[in-house]
Amino acid sequence: MTHAQAAKRFTADVDRTTWHDGALWFVRQKRDRMAYSLPEWEELRELASQIKNHTLSRLDEYLEEFERNATANGIRVHWAANAQEHNEIVLQIIRQHNGKRLVKSKSMLTEECHLNPFLIKEGIEVVDTDLGERIIQFNDEPPSHIVLPAIHLKKEDVGQIFHKHLGTPEGASDPQFLTETARQHLRGHFVAADVALSGVNFAIAETGGFVVCTNEGNADLGVTLAPVHIASMGIEKMIPRLDHLGVYTRLLARSATGQLSTTYTSHFHRPRPGQELHVIIVDNGRVEQLGRPDFRASLKCIRCGACMNTCPVYRRSGGHSYDYTVPGPIGSILSPNVDLKKHSTLPFASTLCGSCSDVCPVKIDIHVQLYKWRQIIGGQKAMPAGKRVGMQLLAKVLARPRLYARLGRVARRMLASTPSALTHNGTINPWAIAREMPEPPKQSFREWYAANQK
Ligand code: SF4
Repeated sequence: MTHAQAAKRFTADVDRTTWHDGALWFVRQKRDRMAYSLPEWEELRELASQIKNHTLSRLDEYLEEFERNATANGIRVHWAANAQEHNEIVLQIIRQHNGKRLVKSKSMLTEECHLNPFLIKEGIEVVDTDLGERIIQFNDEPPSHIVLPAIHLKKEDVGQIFHKHLGTPEGASDPQFLTETARQHLRGHFVAADVALSGVNFAIAETGGFVVCTNEGNADLGVTLAPVHIASMGIEKMIPRLDHLGVYTRLLARSATGQLSTTYTSHFHRPRPGQELHVIIVDNGRVEQLGRPDFRASLKCIRCGACMNTCPVYRRSGGHSYDYTVPGPIGSILSPNVDLKKHSTLPFASTLCGSCSDVCPVKIDIHVQLYKWRQIIGGQKAMPAGKRVGMQLLAKVLARPRLYARLGRVARRMLASTPSALTHNGTINPWAIAREMPEPPKQSFREWYAANQK
């Protein structure tokens, strides 16, 4: 299914689309207020970008430095080349401890690796403890946003889901009541867990420690109570020095939700007495992206979600329409690296307005990369046949100014005399489904210019 086809399902519910658009724009405005309140905002972005550029240029050295220091601290470091290896390492650790129950805090990497279905198939109980993640786990669907995983659901939807899975009264949708219900429900799972798994926001080569940022404290509860803590991180989470951390923590929460900082910014350097601490460092296609000079900057991403909140296409099409773990503009430049054919329509799901690049706290040139993927996809014939043929024809016309002018004259005449039942026919012209066609001008700009240049 193309992005446009998948988006159609979401946009069929006009009220939900409008509400989704407004909810994310509200978050974008909160981000703006935070950004404007810091005079050094642009300097911070530049610094964050340069540190990440530098880190990516020596990623192998920093990863090894991290491994040395983490190991010296008593952390067990594992390397996984792909999702399968990552999942098997997690399972192996759980089995070594005769574990049966895993609590997880939010980790897009484990979504990317499809860890939950893998473990459940092996007989492990997996409970997502982030509220949004738990809601979508009950609803058996993937997150639609990397920071706000259940943003596509309204409180009434959550009420129904909790009624079905947690036995709350039918129709109860008060957010405070639902949150308290989830809290009570999750407490039992925290206490009973054999192993807790967290993501990693930043790993520090200099110290061998790492940082996990959450707003609910669920990661801290999980990893503090369980005797085993597994932290899964992509290789791009690395920063060289502890001094660099403040640059990112100042940018992350402000960009993500318009907060001064995440409610919990927890540092892990070594296992607690009696506890085991494992870090799994995962590649899963990142090295390949690192080897693409035009796209390596996508690995600077700190997963704040700001590019999604600002994107007019994402806001109106919903995260599930991207059919990739990371949706929105950043997902559209990461996913073709993973499967060019499957995700060939995603780089086209953009107006190329550049708003994503403008808000990105690490200055990724997202809209430039979207455009570059389009060129690659066009060159490799990876896009749907209809679109490919249309683009080829258009390229021929645009390369021939006289033909372009002639066809323009024909189109203007035809447009003026064609009944609107035809010009607004959704099958022939999907563009006009929700738009009025412009009034065709009597002459083109070139004709007007030729007639008026004296
Ligand atoms: S690309 Fe930039 S704006 Fe988008 S999630 Fe990553 S860091 Fe945030």
